[in-house]
Amino acid sequence: MKYRYLRFPGGLPKAVTFSYDDGCRWDKDLAPIFNQYGVKGTFNINSSCVGASDWYLNKEEIKEYIVDGGHEIAVHGDKHIAPGVVRPIDGIKEYLNCRLKLEEMFGGIIRGMAYPNSGIKRMENGANYENIREYMKNLDIVYGRSLGGENDAFELPTDWLNWVPTMHHDHAYSLQWAQKFVELKCEEGYHTNRQPRLFYVWGHSYEFNQRNNWEHMHDLLKILANREDTWYATNIEIYEYVEAYNHLVFSADSTVIHNPTATKIWFMQDGGIYSINPGETIKIDAKESTT
Ligand SMILES: [Zn+2]
Repeated sequence: MKYRYLRFPGGLPKAVTFSYDDGCRWDKDLAPIFNQYGVKGTFNINSSCVGASDWYLNKEEIKEYIVDGGHEIAVHGDKHIAPGVVRPIDGIKEYLNCRLKLEEMFGGIIRGMAYPNSGIKRMENGANYENIREYMKNLDIVYGRSLGGENDAFELPTDWLNWVPTMHHDHAYSLQWAQKFVELKCEEGYHTNRQPRLFYVWGHSYEFNQRNNWEHMHDLLKILANREDTWYATNIEIYEYVEAYNHLVFSADSTVIHNPTATKIWFMQDGGIYSINPGETIKIDAKESTT
């Protein structure tokens, strides 16, 4: 065995996901557009803002347009406070309260988040990233969308609590990068081409309204959606799938593979695509491969 690569459900090499903040009322327009194109998004909600004014969606609207549409609800702080600018005790309160209130309102287990405001980019009042990362883990937050970078290599995160998206939807190269992503050939060429790829778009739905550029989202989705080699998933679905993949158990020569998880998992090993059911142990042929 030389190289093994994660493949998304169905053996697919690519995934696309979206992340939209603040639970503002234009999410009611955005979620149906996601549905129309068959893509999935994560909506990051401030628990104190739900139904607080006409600017924000109320509980029933979030349930109807986001939850029932198969999209994800994630934590965005009770009051939209950046963890980097407050003492740990205030950050812990902010994110625990948000989780508790969102889970009470919408049910289920909510353990994803997007950092609000300056997030983890600026540190004041004794905050530091290691400390924030530690308390997020203790709050059972499993991923945190961060900003402050671009990721046009389309890589999966190495630190889920500092998950840098590909781009904001209005990035100057948004359509070019989307085109570059869909044209990537992940099953050909040098081995580094074969890594799984992710296109991750973030923004606020009110920006489409302010800039009157809803058409831009349609243009982006016309490129990214309905691709045979791409899995369309929420942020937490991607996290959970990658985590399941990382729990596969291998013999020393990598020909016997056990899946201890509850998820069917796909991978590419020495050029072959394999799938392994929950609880299954498979034996595959040893191959000498240069790929
Ligand atoms: Zn926000």
